[in-house]
Amino acid sequence: MTEAPHIDPRQALLISALSNAIKYQNVPKAGAVLGMVLSAHPELKAQAGAMKSMLADVISEVESLSDEKRRERLSELAPQQLMHATERKVKEKRDTSLPDLPGVENGVVMRFAPNPSGPLHLGHARAAFLNDAYVKRYGGRYVLRMEDTDPKRVDPEAYETIAEDLAWMGVGITETIYQSDRFLLYYDAGKALIEKGHAYVCECESETFRNLKLEKKACPCRGRVTPENLSMWESMLDGRYAEGSVSVRLKTDMQHPDPAIRDFPLFRILTSVSHQRIDACVYPLMNLSVAVDDHALGMTHIIRGKDHIANTRRQEYIFDYMDWNKPYYYHYGRMSIEGLVLSTSAMREGITSGIYSGWDDPQLGTMRALRRRGILPEAIGKTMTEIGIGETDISFSWDNLYAHNKSIVDPLSDRFFFVADAVEMQVSGAKPQKAEAQKFPGEPKRGIRTIPFDGTVFVQDSDIHDQPVMLRLKDLFNVSPEYGSSPLTGMYAGDALADARAAKAPIVQWLPPAYRTSCLIRHPEGDISGYCEPEVASYIGKTVQFERTGFVKVDSAGDGGVIVYYSHR
Ligand code: GLU
Repeated sequence: MTEAPHIDPRQALLISALSNAIKYQNVPKAGAVLGMVLSAHPELKAQAGAMKSMLADVISEVESLSDEKRRERLSELAPQQLMHATERKVKEKRDTSLPDLPGVENGVVMRFAPNPSGPLHLGHARAAFLNDAYVKRYGGRYVLRMEDTDPKRVDPEAYETIAEDLAWMGVGITETIYQSDRFLLYYDAGKALIEKGHAYVCECESETFRNLKLEKKACPCRGRVTPENLSMWESMLDGRYAEGSVSVRLKTDMQHPDPAIRDFPLFRILTSVSHQRIDACVYPLMNLSVAVDDHALGMTHIIRGKDHIANTRRQEYIFDYMDWNKPYYYHYGRMSIEGLVLSTSAMREGITSGIYSGWDDPQLGTMRALRRRGILPEAIGKTMTEIGIGETDISFSWDNLYAHNKSIVDPLSDRFFFVADAVEMQVSGAKPQKAEAQKFPGEPKRGIRTIPFDGTVFVQDSDIHDQPVMLRLKDLFNVSPEYGSSPLTGMYAGDALADARAAKAPIVQWLPPAYRTSCLIRHPEGDISGYCEPEVASYIGKTVQFERTGFVKVDSAGDGGVIVYYSHR
């Protein structure tokens, strides 16, 4: 029997953590790393206890490396593993790419059709990016259509907000149209449908119609002759009907299995509210205006959510009656987003009542909030196209979005110390000196931060919570704290990193009184306050990494300190 080759447990952990970090663009949890190593090398089980104590160190080593450095390190340690990690990623990318569409020989015409009721959020982003990806793939036109036919749901500011959001997202809109400019087109289509005998003016009370519809019975108005319908239609346009007294309905099929399809309405009268952009009393309902525009603008493919399936069926009736060629329709599955309010009206209420600080509050899933948090549009687009146009319902993965974002921002972000819930510690036994820390580990050319030590440091409360016998002040030296005194005291305990490792000392961030500024992290789960290095104030608009906390986008700086928005770990 040949003896199994000797495996260094720390090295095995490091290899596993590195290859996972490369493969998934995310450093795995300590427990997962240990589990993976033990299942690949069961002979190490006897050393599991000792290996557990190495984990924190291994994970922080991997976390501190850029993607490039992780690859370099893994290729030194286990080139085979590097190949596997990269191969798998390429394969996964191909599997999740968007399927090809039919009928694309002459390019495509697609649209993004939001209601201008508020800024765009993650729900909109899916439709916006999926359609965009196809227009980019096949060439053609990408119409932004402001669906503003319901004056009750128009927020006048949203026209501009949406355009700004899309510009930031990098979506390639080729033209913008407003449905409120196109009422005459809708009236023409309404008239044509009445003339062809496919639509009628209905005077039933909505409750009466609803009951008849549920019993699959036609209402008395359905039998009205065309000339009479036409003259009532003209009277509607002349403003001779009161709000709610009449509507125009499409004759579909009163036996249709879905009651919502049975003789659905095309137009209504609205006089109690006025529209921001036009003067009208006859308003088209969405199925009429959407079908007319999809035809008039020559849409080739429509990609929309499953919640629009009934609308597609309704709109197909209009296409058939008007003898128009239908576009290809696709309905992607529902996407739930854990812990997130996506309804525009609920967000608005929360802003009014002060739960959110504005549309860009870090708790929200608006493009504005994500932008402020340093989430890049490329990462959002990539996440959405990976989710794709499948009909299966899915839950949105923040982890995927963050991993994509991290792979972009990580190599660009300088590193700084941040200390939350700062606790003062008087350190004796060490001379005043200066710590030199690289702005980016392994790339000294990017700059050095000089952090003075003068005997007093602030450390993070959670780092001393378990009262470790030794702490390593990162990039400085080791300290043995003496707990119980106030302020806390500590003794210099040598410079050697190896001693810190042997003592299982946590490597902690620290800041001296002379070199710190107050820092507020606006976090989706609640703000965090602490201190950071003063230099952070010169990074406004940029992302930096607070190594133990995560990536943050520097938002503003003033007398009160620095405000940053949290991106992700
Ligand atoms: N404006 C509607 C929406 O945002 C319609 C979109 C569509 O017809 O696909 O849900």
